[in-house]
Amino acid sequence: MVRGENADRILDKVVGLFGSKYYTGKGEGFKLTNHQRFVEAFKYMGGEELTRAEIETIILKKFPGMNPGSILPSDHTEIRVKGACWCAGTEKRVFGRIARGRYRVRTNL
Ligand SMILES: [Zn+2]
Repeated sequence: MVRGENADRILDKVVGLFGSKYYTGKGEGFKLTNHQRFVEAFKYMGGEELTRAEIETIILKKFPGMNPGSILPSDHTEIRVKGACWCAGTEKRVFGRIARGRYRVRTNL
C-alpha cells in the first residue's frame, strides 16, 4: 500500500461521518472527557488499524479544540500504566495495541 493512502481513505470516511459539524472549543463536546472524545471520534471505525498520527488527525478533525499533547491513544489500550485512562485494561478500552504506534479500534465502543 502506498504510504498515506490509508490516511486519505480514513479522512474521507471521517469527513463523510462528521460533515461540517466540528467541535470548535465551545458548545457541543466542550464538557466531554478525553475518553468520551475518543469514543465519539472512533465509534464507527471498529476494526480499523490506525497509526498514532492517523488517530491524532481524526480526533482533531472531530474536536479541533483539543490539545494535541492530550491525545494519547496508548492511554486507552489493554496496557494499564500509571496515569492511563480508566478504560485501560478493561473491556471498555478504545484501542488494541498492534505494535509501537499502531492500534486497532475496538468494536462496540
Ligand atoms: Zn479511555
